[in-house]
Amino acid sequence: MRQTRNRFYLYSISVFTLFGICLSVFYTYNLWKTDKGYIESTYNILLNTKESRIKEIINNAIKVVDQQRQIAEKEYKDRFDIVAGTVRAGPGNVDAAVWAKELAAKYSFCSFHVWDAKSGKLLFTTEKSPAASPADFSRELKNRAFSDIVEIDNHSIGIYISKDVIESEVTAIIRKLFHSYVLDSEGYIWVNKVLDYNGGEGYGVRLIHPNLIETEGQRLSTETKDLMGNLPYLEELNGIKKEGEVLFTYYFKKKNTDAVTHKMSYAKLYPDFDWIIATGVHLDDIENFVKRENERINNGIWDRLIHLSLVMFAFIAIMAVCMFYLERHYTQNSQKQYTRVRKEYKELESIAFKDPLTKLYNRRGIESYLNASFQVFQKNKDPLCVIMGDIDNFKSINDRYGHDVGDETLVAVSKVIQSALRNTDVACRWGGEEFLIALPAASPETAMAIAERIRAGIAAKRVEHKGIFISVTCSFGVSMFYEEDKGYAPSISRADRALYQSKKNGKNKVTLCKETE
Ligand code: GH3
Ligand code: MG
Ligand code: MG
Repeated sequence: MRQTRNRFYLYSISVFTLFGICLSVFYTYNLWKTDKGYIESTYNILLNTKESRIKEIINNAIKVVDQQRQIAEKEYKDRFDIVAGTVRAGPGNVDAAVWAKELAAKYSFCSFHVWDAKSGKLLFTTEKSPAASPADFSRELKNRAFSDIVEIDNHSIGIYISKDVIESEVTAIIRKLFHSYVLDSEGYIWVNKVLDYNGGEGYGVRLIHPNLIETEGQRLSTETKDLMGNLPYLEELNGIKKEGEVLFTYYFKKKNTDAVTHKMSYAKLYPDFDWIIATGVHLDDIENFVKRENERINNGIWDRLIHLSLVMFAFIAIMAVCMFYLERHYTQNSQKQYTRVRKEYKELESIAFKDPLTKLYNRRGIESYLNASFQVFQKNKDPLCVIMGDIDNFKSINDRYGHDVGDETLVAVSKVIQSALRNTDVACRWGGEEFLIALPAASPETAMAIAERIRAGIAAKRVEHKGIFISVTCSFGVSMFYEEDKGYAPSISRADRALYQSKKNGKNKVTLCKETE
């Protein structure tokens, strides 16, 4: 019983412990996952913020460039108009070539061609590869911002301002501006000019680069790799070709240090100049944040798991102790109740089955015993003998000494009977001054011997009353269970008949009933 209960405790605690462990692991894993999610979303928010910040910077930069281009264009348009006005006045009597040379020196931003109108001969030019004729000049408008051809004084005079002049002007202004820009996190804007959209060696030139000023003017190549083997210039050019803008990451030197870190850049094309205007942010700050946070949660997970497990174990231990005490309390309580019930039952049993005077079984007691015994006898045939006893001339004892002495005599006789019996034997007060004794597993000879011992014991007994010693005798009849019997009753009838024989033969005798019926 105790072992089963202990096993139950062990199982319960094991199940709770297992459950506790599972719960701890599940809970910690979920916390860890939530933390990871938080880190990821924080990283994304920071990244998005950086992304929109660099896009905003570039869009503003493009606006500034465009503004500067418009200003420069307007300025050069005005200048061109002045040059054109001067040219329209013509060389007059002065030699056209000399006159043009002076003008070219004065207006160095402008290109000059002077042809003789009649011969078509080119008299003067500022160009290395000049247009062959005025007609050619008028056709070649591609790279010109402003162009005009004036026919005056037998001369054709072609003037133009190249787009490059305006771009150089804007470049100088923008370079100064971008060099002076102070962006957050040591950011800066750089400009690369695309010379060949097909890429390759020298596909572009670095126009402005505040981080590496000494490299400005350097030719760029789409073959250039960063530390991790990426091709950032190729990626940039491809993106620009596809969408006109590109957001990409690569590894690059940080400004003011030699550290090379992961960088995210946004580049946008300014088509008028074929400029790629870009800015970038180093991602090491948010990447370090992610690394730090990951380390923190990875280290914290064990602490958390241990703490949680300890709490769980403490909880389980407290529960086990409570269970133990509660169980003990209830067991003790119920044991007390069982003891009380058993006591009450014993009392009831003695009332129901015991004779209050002699303390022997009463008739009901032995009947229930004989009933059960007869069933056992039917199964295993072990003999059971019965002795029926009746006090001789008891009425006269009552009459002579009174009822109380009669009672005392009954008690004295009972004691003699009881003392002569074995532990397994059962004696009862059958009624009045009659006794019935059951001797299980006893042969008729043994039963006769016991009956004789009792008889002699009673005959030798003296009941003392007021100094008088009263002697008493008892007659006995002995019989046993027979296989032919239907129950225990016939054996009692036979013992009764044998008792009657004892009385008939002069009392204080033991008679064995020989009949089976
Ligand atoms: P016999 O030898 O033939 O058995 O004669 P007897 O007097 O013993 O038999 P009888 O049947 O005539 O008398 C039995 C008496 O036992 C009658 C009754 O008053 C008495 N008796 C029965 N029960 C008790 C009892 O509990 N206490 C006392 N004191 N007497 C009892
Ligand atoms: Mg009698
Ligand atoms: Mg009698």
